Amino acid sequence: MVKRDYYEILGVPRNVQEAEIKKAYRQLALQYHPDRNPGSKEAEEKFKEASEAYEVLRDPEKRDLYDRYGHEGVRRMGFSGFTGFEDIFTSFSDIFEDFFGLGTGRRRSAGPRKGPDFRYDLTISFMDAALGKETEIEIERPESCNACKGTGIQPGSKKETCAACHGSGQITHSQGFFTLRTTCSRCRGQGSSIPHPCSECRGNGKVKKSKKIPIKIPAGVDTGNRLKVSGEGGEGERSGRSGDLYVVLHVEPHSFFERHGDDILCQIPISFTQAALGAEIEVPSLNGSKKLPIPPGSQSGQVFTLRGQGIARLDSFGKGDQHIQILVKVPTKLNKRQKELLKEFASWEGKGD
Ligand SMILES: [Zn+2]
Ligand SMILES: [Zn+2]
Repeated sequence: MVKRDYYEILGVPRNVQEAEIKKAYRQLALQYHPDRNPGSKEAEEKFKEASEAYEVLRDPEKRDLYDRYGHEGVRRMGFSGFTGFEDIFTSFSDIFEDFFGLGTGRRRSAGPRKGPDFRYDLTISFMDAALGKETEIEIERPESCNACKGTGIQPGSKKETCAACHGSGQITHSQGFFTLRTTCSRCRGQGSSIPHPCSECRGNGKVKKSKKIPIKIPAGVDTGNRLKVSGEGGEGERSGRSGDLYVVLHVEPHSFFERHGDDILCQIPISFTQAALGAEIEVPSLNGSKKLPIPPGSQSGQVFTLRGQGIARLDSFGKGDQHIQILVKVPTKLNKRQKELLKEFASWEGKGD
């Protein structure tokens, strides 16, 4: 069977933001949820298809592979879709509770869960992108509160069993044919309440802490490139590993150089005598100034190339080139002597040697 495009399945454009992906999936999951379509093979297929698309597109790393290499890229990473509903509910149990407020009708997996991935947008200069740079970013992220060791309970006090759900964390409702279990709103599914929340974290169990993270920007990056910093995302749950941090790069334009892939382009004005008689001019490059010979009789708009003076190729060896376009300037102010000389020059024009 030919696999459909994940963006098409979710009905979202390719440049869609993460929040929109979740929204689109939520809608489809609601529509094709097995509890709402008992026994329907078609709904089941749609539900699985949408879940697979969501699993890939919500994960920055998998989405990146999919964008670049399609289904093949994701398959090579070891992801081959879901085998059944249990699989889907286990992967997205947080989302299903979040979406429906009714849980999955199945027990929540109590296994370790990887922490969330974080995104950080970093703007860098043209030169830092071209030459690479080691820098540091400061991120703020929730970390386990030291005062209560992440429990959210004020040290010296205890939590109490929730009176609404008697500690189960869920409330059962009957609705027509279905029995729905919703997460207890009073204790938010915790099964217990905290009469004295920790004063440090206001009962969250987490506090925002800032952390400096060293970042190595390789030479040749461009806007839209992502650097992955493993393990610097959110903390995992139940001894799951931490998520990853993705640094998304934005490169500022340069006042003199313009980038075209791995090549850079610039324009240099020269005088009309330099163009006519030939000259050696100084050209700014990424690696200091370089000498460029201008042959006699060069025309305005002509392009010269300095090989290997462009930007380092990220995915292979070597560098691009620097192209220099010369712009011949006609003098606007002439003194008396210059005028005489030019008039004499003009009188010889078209007469040969
Ligand atoms: Zn605390
Ligand atoms: Zn409760």
